[in-house]
Amino acid sequence: MARGIDTKCIHLEEDEGQCSHYGALSYPIYQTATYAHPGVGQSTGFDYSRLQNPTREHLEKMVAALENGIDAFALSSGMAAISLLMELFRPGDHIIADSDLYGGSIRLFHNVNEKNGVEFSSIDCCRGDVESYVKENTKAVYIETPTNPMMNVTDIRKMADIAKRHNLILIVDNTFMSPYFQNPLDLGADVVIHSGTKYLSGHNDTLAGFIVTNREDIQEKLRFLIKTTGAGLAPFDCWLVLRGMKTLGIRMERSQENAKQIAAWLQQQKAVTRVIYPGLPDHPGHEIMKKQARGFGAMLTIQLESKEFALAILEKVRMIRFAESLGGVETLVTYPTTQTHADVPKEIRERNGITESTLRFSVGIENIEDLIGELEKVFAEIEEEKNDGKKS
Ligand code: PLP
Repeated sequence: MARGIDTKCIHLEEDEGQCSHYGALSYPIYQTATYAHPGVGQSTGFDYSRLQNPTREHLEKMVAALENGIDAFALSSGMAAISLLMELFRPGDHIIADSDLYGGSIRLFHNVNEKNGVEFSSIDCCRGDVESYVKENTKAVYIETPTNPMMNVTDIRKMADIAKRHNLILIVDNTFMSPYFQNPLDLGADVVIHSGTKYLSGHNDTLAGFIVTNREDIQEKLRFLIKTTGAGLAPFDCWLVLRGMKTLGIRMERSQENAKQIAAWLQQQKAVTRVIYPGLPDHPGHEIMKKQARGFGAMLTIQLESKEFALAILEKVRMIRFAESLGGVETLVTYPTTQTHADVPKEIRERNGITESTLRFSVGIENIEDLIGELEKVFAEIEEEKNDGKKS
């Protein structure tokens, strides 16, 4: 019987029943750059840590198991993972990329990969007309679902059918959902990306990135590329991710529960003109999420009545931190316009619906009464100051 995901976050099946590493339950950190050979022409299987490191290998096997892939690659950040993946493409190749993506991915595509001759079409992939953008030189489709930050949802299975028909690689950045809630490879994707900085490690204490695949041809190319370009994750950071992953399930459940309650509270606020959370039945992607994921996650985006209201929230929050990033135990609020999406050209940002009154929340695992308590206080203070301003 296939194992449950919580078990897979803690145990690597192939290691069981053995007492290797003196029976250590916490996988050892192999802090070594190189390995001695037993003799000429002999190897322990480990030659040099840019190529292989036992701690990294263990983490890669764990992440591959969580995403039901044949292999995973642990890189020094999510962007290092996406950059390495882009090395699969050649000048003249064309990639269809969702127009609403993490700003760093957009920056990479248009400032680095385009310079190297790769062509991109930015398409709203949650719409139905993606196939009409496929050209003779199209090699891949790159999506996030839900997208960062506007939470658009794409039907992964439908997108995989299009990709298969045209022999394209379907790449899904699964950072927002984590493998706990969604497994794109099971729905027909070829490659999954994670910023391991987020839910997988979960404690805002390390950067990490992953590529997972179920295709042997892609696996072989990536093994060559990781050894050649050298951005493999360092042993201590691998260990931090391994430790964080053990509690992925309970963190995801708790953050999602908190997010649902915060979304409901925000919907009742006069100053909030829109709450974008796929767990709400009125979200356009709600039914697709019910089909393709096991939950709705803990990311939500809101539109406020004004830029001033949005900025006042950022000024006043205390326990909730005004910070970039997501997926950790702490609740964070982000201002996409000047933070995560600052390098996305203004017209694209605006077309995607990101305005100066947009805020993104990554809901953590604090007590919900404390989170809502802080929001109540912040919103009440801003309303009060607004009213005082009107009087004077
Ligand atoms: N993908 C998504 C969806 C992200 O939100 C981020 C970062 O916020 C990245 C990739 C990049 O990851 P990293 O910051 O680990 O490089």
